[in-house]
Amino acid sequence: MTPTTDARTDGSVTAEAPSPRPVDLVIHARRAIIEGREQSVSLLIRMGRIVGIEPYEASVPSKAVATLQPHEVLIPGLVDTHVHINEPGRTEWEGFDSATRAAAAAGVTTLIDMPLNSLPPTLTAQALAAKRVAARGRCRVDVGFWGGSVPTNLDDLPQLFAAGVFGVKCFLQDSGVPEFPPLTTGELRSAMRVIAGVGGLMLVHAEDPGVLHTAPVPQGRSYAAFLDSRPAEAETGAIAACIEAAAVTRCRVHIVHLSSAGGVALIRRAKANGVPITAETCPHYLTLAAETIPDGSPQFKCCPPIRGRADQEALWAGLADGTIDIVVTDHSPSTPELKLLEVGDLGLAWGGIAGLQFGFAAVWAAAHQRGIPLTTVLQWMSQGPADLAGLEHKGRIEIGADADLVALSENETFTVTKDLIKHRHPITPYLGQQLRGVVRTRWLRGTELTDDMVAGRLLTHDTFRE
Ligand SMILES: [Zn+2]
Repeated sequence: MTPTTDARTDGSVTAEAPSPRPVDLVIHARRAIIEGREQSVSLLIRMGRIVGIEPYEASVPSKAVATLQPHEVLIPGLVDTHVHINEPGRTEWEGFDSATRAAAAAGVTTLIDMPLNSLPPTLTAQALAAKRVAARGRCRVDVGFWGGSVPTNLDDLPQLFAAGVFGVKCFLQDSGVPEFPPLTTGELRSAMRVIAGVGGLMLVHAEDPGVLHTAPVPQGRSYAAFLDSRPAEAETGAIAACIEAAAVTRCRVHIVHLSSAGGVALIRRAKANGVPITAETCPHYLTLAAETIPDGSPQFKCCPPIRGRADQEALWAGLADGTIDIVVTDHSPSTPELKLLEVGDLGLAWGGIAGLQFGFAAVWAAAHQRGIPLTTVLQWMSQGPADLAGLEHKGRIEIGADADLVALSENETFTVTKDLIKHRHPITPYLGQQLRGVVRTRWLRGTELTDDMVAGRLLTHDTFRE
């Protein structure tokens, strides 16, 4: 990318017609991903929005001009709707500053924060206000918030939606933190009735507590033993309950971090039957496999767990046929003390994968090997997540959309080293891996981001009924 200041000024008025009012920025890209295909364009940007898409050769009065290199492709900024920032309250795990720095490095221009692990969890309009106070002036990319649904906040849900959350998330089993208890199946239905009433979305971490209670207790360094403690039947049992609840209440339900072949099959059938259900999976389920995870390596521990190759193939097939809608990172770091890397005990270590910065490059590397085009990966990791959250101005290059853009050197590879890592603690299962796609330039609503720039806005969903 070669940024230049355009020499033309308003003085270039011809005798025939006055030149149009200059735009703020023109980006010339021989290759830009627009409406699912590569096009050669000049993108016109004014007040942070895309206001025109002209031929590459077009000459447009502009205050600034950027021209992509031939090996760079212009893509919409990535959207990651599953990020645990943990601030306020557990800022030693992560925080708005470090998480959004990692996001910006990855070309993620919008993220949505999960309601748990922060203190307070985002369970009321007041708690959402506390989150926004903690985030204000700290975000390098645009940030929105999911709320949470627990047994005690049923009456708070309408107000929480009215305050601007993009949906609410619940657990059906122990979440790992006491301040965010799970819902019973009955409570799930009650909450979904309320959420359906405001036209909202329920996100579910789907693991069945009954199945987990009868599974072996995880302990020691063996990854196989950890896998046995979180069987796929836990996921399928819980997804079945979600499908029933969605069918009865007609509330839209979204299954987060889908990990198993059985789960894919259930959602495929439910979609065919018209149940209002969507699903996501994560880069770690698509690119890492139980067969190659070394024992004693808690950086690979998450719940549900990274399963074997057969499940991984089912997830790719689920993406291919539209059963799985999106790919988001479930970035969920903690402190090195809680991760127990030296001890390596998978029963005791905190679960959660830190992948916000590397998820896209990992998925793109694997997709490329499978012959899947970049346009498809962007549907999963940019427009798809924006659509899930109702962010119609994000995740696409079109007139009227926010000018959240990335110049990507898509065939360049890089190896993940500790010094590259921007999130708070340099722990990630992608360490040492060769990934694909180097972010060259990022624009957030038309402003070119530098590493030190804090230009993110706090987003609110403003269309839910009170
Ligand atoms: Zn999560």
